[in-house]
Amino acid sequence: MIDNLKLRNVFSSLAYRIFFSKKKSLKNKVVALDYHYFTDNPIIYPKLGLEVSYSALDKQLKIFSEFFEPLETDFALRTFVKKKSNNSKPGILISIDDADKSIKYALKYFIKYQIPITLFVPVGLCIDKNEEDGIKSRILCRYRELFPSSERLTLNEKSKFFDRIINSSFQELYEYELKLGSPKKENNITASRELLSLKEIEEISKNPLVTIASHSMSHNSLAELPDNWLKWEIKKSKQYIKDLQGKYDLFAYPFGHNQSYNLKVKKILQEEGIKYAFTTSSKIIEKNSDLLSLGRAPMLNFDNKDYVFGSAYGAFHYWDKILQR
Ligand SMILES: [Zn+2]
Repeated sequence: MIDNLKLRNVFSSLAYRIFFSKKKSLKNKVVALDYHYFTDNPIIYPKLGLEVSYSALDKQLKIFSEFFEPLETDFALRTFVKKKSNNSKPGILISIDDADKSIKYALKYFIKYQIPITLFVPVGLCIDKNEEDGIKSRILCRYRELFPSSERLTLNEKSKFFDRIINSSFQELYEYELKLGSPKKENNITASRELLSLKEIEEISKNPLVTIASHSMSHNSLAELPDNWLKWEIKKSKQYIKDLQGKYDLFAYPFGHNQSYNLKVKKILQEEGIKYAFTTSSKIIEKNSDLLSLGRAPMLNFDNKDYVFGSAYGAFHYWDKILQR
């Protein structure tokens, strides 16, 4: 049987060959594309499609730079989608989620093709684990592992648990960490990866192609969090992004699928002055898009031209529509 990722490749390639190749441009619509991890090794999580090899990245970016107009996120959302002019090349936006260490090496390809990127950083997981916010975020990221999997915590119980962690001494926090042991990728991929440190992020952000923005503190599904925890995720990460001179009114929901955020989350984002928030449903961005529910499509480890063209023309907008996602 053909797997989901191969099917996506076929869909994107066909969509390009049959429809998009006859179109000149998407006018002022923008397709946002998203990466996670890069590697030189054989792909480890094929089912999830989160890893892209450096050689595929190189080929994908070459196509983007020749046939598309890779835009800086702020410019795309404030100006490009609103202007009337007929752009000769379709506008695209590129982001990388989760601040994986492999970004350090991937960066040279973005520099090679002069393609702007936004890094969505799960801030708390990049803070040194000997600092309070660092260790707290690591525990909160894996809080489910502290409870039996049969037990479904109520919002009230989660709220109390959060208060307990936030008010814990270092000694108590270390005990939690000890109990959790080292993270396993089956339980929590984000926690099991080696992430960039805040210092490395600061260094990378000096490159004018790079924009830093928030992906929360502990990378939890925000829709499942109680108010006190949710506010901390948004407020605290915003403060760190501000200190890093990143774009603090820009946000990406952890996981980003339909169940990972809701109206309550959007309301708090708004109260905190967040103007733009990205999901992972693949809607094409246009003038009237909901700015707190902007679409992005994942880039997969394929480098055939038709797949790359199809993705950048927004094929997965239609894929999600067909699957009613
Ligand atoms: Zn993420």
